[in-house]
Amino acid sequence: TPANPDCDLLVLGAGPGGYSAAFRAADLGLKVILVDQYPVLGGVCLNVGCIPSKALLHAVKVKDEAEQMGEHGISFGKPKVNLDQLNAWKRSVVKQLTDGLAGLAKQRKVEVVTGRGRLLDSHSLHVEGQGETRTLSFRQCILATGSSPVVPPGIDMGDERIIDSTGALQLDEIPERFLVIGGGIIGLEMASVYSGLGSKVTVVELADRLLPGVDKDLVKVLRKSLDKRCDSIYLNTKVTAIKANKKSLTVAMEGSEGESSERFDKVLVAVGRSPNGHGIGLAEAGLSVDEQGFIAVDEHMRTAAAHIYAIGDLVGQPMLAHKAVHEGKIAAEVCSGERSAWDARAIPSVAYTDPEVAWVGLTEEQARAQGINYEKGMFPWAANGRALSLGGGDGLTKLLFDSESGRVIGGGIVGPGAGELIAEVVLAIEMGAEAHDIGLTVHPHPTLSETVAMAAEAAAGTLTDLI
Ligand code: FAD
Repeated sequence: TPANPDCDLLVLGAGPGGYSAAFRAADLGLKVILVDQYPVLGGVCLNVGCIPSKALLHAVKVKDEAEQMGEHGISFGKPKVNLDQLNAWKRSVVKQLTDGLAGLAKQRKVEVVTGRGRLLDSHSLHVEGQGETRTLSFRQCILATGSSPVVPPGIDMGDERIIDSTGALQLDEIPERFLVIGGGIIGLEMASVYSGLGSKVTVVELADRLLPGVDKDLVKVLRKSLDKRCDSIYLNTKVTAIKANKKSLTVAMEGSEGESSERFDKVLVAVGRSPNGHGIGLAEAGLSVDEQGFIAVDEHMRTAAAHIYAIGDLVGQPMLAHKAVHEGKIAAEVCSGERSAWDARAIPSVAYTDPEVAWVGLTEEQARAQGINYEKGMFPWAANGRALSLGGGDGLTKLLFDSESGRVIGGGIVGPGAGELIAEVVLAIEMGAEAHDIGLTVHPHPTLSETVAMAAEAAAGTLTDLI
């Protein structure tokens, strides 16, 4: 350790993981420096991820609902989209949050340094800012450099009509024909935004279903809605080449029915993200990444060097902001001498599509693969009054319970507000709740939350029979 380091803790990357770590460590009394290449804090999530996407999804949801109400006796006239205003509003939502972070950093006396950082050795970081370079020495360090979009082989991102999620969120025009490559969360959220704004949207997915890995019963409900919103959805299909012409992009695809080609005005590449573990001087500090580019950490978020920690998208799946935040807090506490460890039983995921899909813990397929005997409780929303009044009658709540212990091991919800509702299932898993614990809990009526209680009750009947 250097005799007089510039700080107790240096945090590289100011996304949800990095700023949470920096703030927690400062609260615990450490002298903290937070380094990011951008002057605005918040990382991908606040600036070009979670927040701007949710603002746009809300806007199209309001528009869709206004149109739907026309069939139920309230008509507003055809909604008009003003892209400049929509973009300005989205930016203002982001700015309120990022300004808030700047204030929180100042309050805690966290020093923010702007520039690209690279480890020089295990106790110092070289920062290249605009016209200025600095070397910062540290006692301990947390790496939180996040992830970047993957570019599949054969696709040249050089043409400005071929965009990644950041480009898609800029929304400088509404293309007539919009292709989304990748039927995962990000691809489907952006497909929802663009179809809502009036583009003819096509989705291409390599796997045999949308949202690969998610429970089939949930995906089926989303698929029904997407079939109405989208022009076409191709599964088991690969984009092999994109040819840029003056007027359009010709996209070659290879699917189960052979090769084909179609023209689009804009193409979003959303095939996944890879961790930013390169170019940050890991080798200089005696560290390395695995084949997928992740840095290995233990439950204290420690890397192979005991005083260097890593968190967030950089250390593994799921690449989600709430995972980064929790890991950031643990790393900060361990840096401060506390004995914290990562011990979450479950991490929820949400696709903020219309309808929303949320899931946590095991799916049926995973439970079967792990040889776990389970009982399931399903509650279709067609029997829930609140869901019907919200136009969410297609929704579904599904819970899985371990047959032996009766405890909830997984759950999935599809329907309006699924992302909010899943929190109860996450808490139930964390607390080891059994079906009766959820079913006997009085839920307010009429709400969507009743579907969680009803699904648990449905399973409780079967579980009681087993006892
Ligand atoms: P990041 O947020 O990626 O932050 C890393 C920071 O490090 C960046 O600011 C970067 O500039 C900086 N950095 C990297 N290298 C260097 C360097 N060498 N020097 C200096 N600075 C550096 N997650 C959710 O939970 N919910 C959602 O709804 C959601 N929606 C999303 C929508 C989109 C379109 C995208 C792209 C992502 C979404 N995510 C969502 C994922 C979420 O954004 C990430 O999981 C989260 O941002 C990860 O946080 P992090 O702290 O690990 O890294």
